[in-house]
Amino acid sequence: MEEAKRIQSLPPYLFARIDEKITAAKAKGVDVISLGIGDPDRPTPEHIIRKLAEEAYNPANHRYPSYVGMPEYRQAVSDYYQRRFNVELDGKKEVVALIGSKEGIAHIAWCYLNPGDIALVPDPGYPVYSVGVMLAGAESYRMPLLEENGFLPDFDIIPADVAARAKLMFLNYPNNPTGATADAAFYSKAIAFAKKYDIIICHDAAYQEIYFDGYKPISFLEVEGAKDVGIEFGSMSKTYNMTGWRAGWAVGNARVIEALGRIKSNVDSGIFQAVQAAAVAGLLGSQDCVAEMRAVYRERRDFVIDGLNAMGWNLKKTLATIYVWPRVPAGFTSSSFAELVLEKAGVVITPGNGYGECGEGYFRISLTVPTERLLEALDRMRASLGRLKF
Ligand SMILES: *Cc1c(COP(=O)(O)O)cnc(C)c1O
Repeated sequence: MEEAKRIQSLPPYLFARIDEKITAAKAKGVDVISLGIGDPDRPTPEHIIRKLAEEAYNPANHRYPSYVGMPEYRQAVSDYYQRRFNVELDGKKEVVALIGSKEGIAHIAWCYLNPGDIALVPDPGYPVYSVGVMLAGAESYRMPLLEENGFLPDFDIIPADVAARAKLMFLNYPNNPTGATADAAFYSKAIAFAKKYDIIICHDAAYQEIYFDGYKPISFLEVEGAKDVGIEFGSMSKTYNMTGWRAGWAVGNARVIEALGRIKSNVDSGIFQAVQAAAVAGLLGSQDCVAEMRAVYRERRDFVIDGLNAMGWNLKKTLATIYVWPRVPAGFTSSSFAELVLEKAGVVITPGNGYGECGEGYFRISLTVPTERLLEALDRMRASLGRLKF
């Protein structure tokens, strides 16, 4: 049973490896606190669950859904873009429903990449970008996200021959794992680069509703020319604590959206309609639940950053996302520091090198654990790690 080459070179998903370490520590009796995975700990808001329950009883929803999403769902995404970003989208042509944005991020590579083609991916970055590219038989060219550049890629250092072979570019702001944000000037540069080399921009905006301190992310699609060159991925997952429900979307350039829909209609059959109806209730209903979620994450962010700074770090407050991305102390690699923290404190942090070579020297803390557990994790780190040098 020889596996196909494309899956032989597939690494185990980052968190699958971390899960093994957690299991081993738990087997030794350690009360492990995981600050590893970015999966909201709080429940989906009540009115969304109630809508699902209601719609689950409707036999019309028990049949195959429409492949590209119910008209009501696509219209609700379009209404959200109008309300939040003042961006007009034709729900019929410029919106496609996804079974979580991860699904579309992986499938977009199939739409545009032939063997020998290149996709530009951020490093560090969400692993799905480069995995999708690899499954399509193409190559990823890693764009370093460096702290001195605000974790934004520098398009000027991409060699012209690489840019000429590139068909897709993945961007992600607010950024996982760095917590960095991008502004209109940056997106304009990306659009000019994409136009010059005929590249499709795939902007992953999974964290566009998780922001703090008066900052509010803009949409890539707000920037002039964006719809000519790209699409934006969005998701119910982080905004409404719905990671388990699998509901997301891609919006933007009609030709790209149509191509993504064509692939999907051949490999999957869409999102359960009751879930789509519940998502509509989330998108069109009161957004107070989202404001409450932001307040919870803001408080946790403050605990983590103030706590780490008291141990010797010198971190600025992040303006968005559910992540904190500190450097490891002097004398450690990402992996050796993560191992030390698990061994001494029983706390799981994600080693930064899991997100790409440029993540080496960093680790990621996720704010998606109950606040009292987060505080306990910080207490244990302070008590057990001893004097750290920076
Ligand atoms: C969580 C996350 C997503 C969302 O994935 P879904 O499939 O919609 O649950 C997308 N991109 C990034 C960078 C993420 O961290």
